[in-house]
Amino acid sequence: MASAPEKVSVADHGSIWSASTPGGPVCPPLAGAATTDTVVIGAGFTGLSTALSLRKAGIDVVVVEAAEPGWGASGRNNGQVIPTLSRPDPDDIEARHGEAGERFVALLRDCAATLFDMAREYGIDAEAEQTGWVQPVHTPGRIRISERRVAQWSKRGAPVELLDRAQVRSMLGSEAWHGGFWNRTGGHINPLALARGLAHAAVLAGARIHGQTPALDYSRQGDRWVVRTPSGEVRARALVLATNAYTGEFSASLAPRIARELVPILSWQMATQVLSDDVRASVIPGRQAMSDTHGDLYFARFDARNRLITGGAILAPFDRRERLKRMIAERLGRLWPQIGEVRFDHVWNGYVGMTDDFMPRFHRLGPDAFAWAGCNGRAVGLAVALGAEFAKAVQGVPDRELAMPFTEPAPLPLHAVVRRVAPLMLLRYRRLDRAEI
Ligand SMILES: Cc1cc2nc3c(=O)[nH]c(=O)nc-3n(C[C@H](O)[C@H](O)[C@H](O)COP(=O)(O)OP(=O)(O)OC[C@H]3O[C@@H](n4cnc5c(N)ncnc54)[C@H](O)[C@@H]3O)c2cc1C
Repeated sequence: MASAPEKVSVADHGSIWSASTPGGPVCPPLAGAATTDTVVIGAGFTGLSTALSLRKAGIDVVVVEAAEPGWGASGRNNGQVIPTLSRPDPDDIEARHGEAGERFVALLRDCAATLFDMAREYGIDAEAEQTGWVQPVHTPGRIRISERRVAQWSKRGAPVELLDRAQVRSMLGSEAWHGGFWNRTGGHINPLALARGLAHAAVLAGARIHGQTPALDYSRQGDRWVVRTPSGEVRARALVLATNAYTGEFSASLAPRIARELVPILSWQMATQVLSDDVRASVIPGRQAMSDTHGDLYFARFDARNRLITGGAILAPFDRRERLKRMIAERLGRLWPQIGEVRFDHVWNGYVGMTDDFMPRFHRLGPDAFAWAGCNGRAVGLAVALGAEFAKAVQGVPDRELAMPFTEPAPLPLHAVVRRVAPLMLLRYRRLDRAEI
């Protein structure tokens, strides 16, 4: 057997979430052989929500996690709960995937509400604020994006509304935007608190979660799936691969075709100092979550202690933290001059799994085995909502009832090269951001 892995901890993130969130449940590493009905690889929102749904149905489940629950994207994101994809709209999704696409759109429409309901159901203190999610437009012409989204989502029963310039000004406390749209079911959470809360709930419900237990690979042996780890193995009837943008991080042989169908891009997150009550009352006074229409995205929300949680993208790989601090302080000063001097107490990052068309990918890996990947930076709500779908899938619910449009894994040609050059897309986005549509 291979030697024991080094401990990989959320504390290494340096995020505001790891500094301010109570610990998760004890998740001992797997030692020896385990058998179960369903093995889940990865303890982010997807894996934990799947485990919880399975336990709710009385099904035995073992989760193996390379680090600890919430170590991946789930514990270090901006915490915006957004019931849309980043680019594809409902018409695009349904045109591509037909009836499965329609079911997926319905899941997406409801995913923010599903997340907030679940936090309430399990009594998870995730600093949840269902204040709505707003997407303001950064040029006048882009109001067409909002109009299109409002039209498509209202047709499908989502509680969305078009906002004019004055409404956005009073909602965000800023002159910077030209209108937009909002969805009342969105909002924000402390994502690490939610991940740890889901882990606590899953353990309490009888799930076995093994931390510091990287899956090296999985294979089919007879009628079982076998997941190999450095100091043991799990044999199971069904399998869910929930490693998303971190699929290649701990074992190159885990699922190389899935790892290579997306490009992990670093997304930087930052937390300001606690802002004064006066500033708080005039910057996003209704405490909505906000991400705008820039390709080089502008995004912000308050946390429970009134820090503004924001961030940005940066290209050249030198002195990134200090350069980001200067760049984002200048940006915040432009958006909200009333903020005054800004200090960043926390700067951290994480991988967002991008696909070439901004669509997530869903896969059947074999009998009773499923995976998804490609969150494109917008799947806090979606990942939580998908747990119930994966739980149904492993119980044999037919494809025609699942909200997952399955495709075959399609690795990107020259993935290593694409991964190297993909960050340069930022230059293109910045150029497009300056253009009116
Ligand atoms: C910086 C950042 C900001 C973001 N902001 C937002 C936002 O505001 N709103 C939004 O909607 N979305 C956002 N996202 C996206 C969102 O965080 C993700 O879509 C979501 O958390 C995905 O959850 P997951 O459970 O599928 O994957 P993850 O949370 O990444 O979980 C995968 C888990 O698999 C584990 N793993 C990997 N390999 C192995 C292995 N070999 N064996 C065992 N375990 C393994 C990892 O350790 C990890 O814990 C952001 C993402 C990032 C990185």
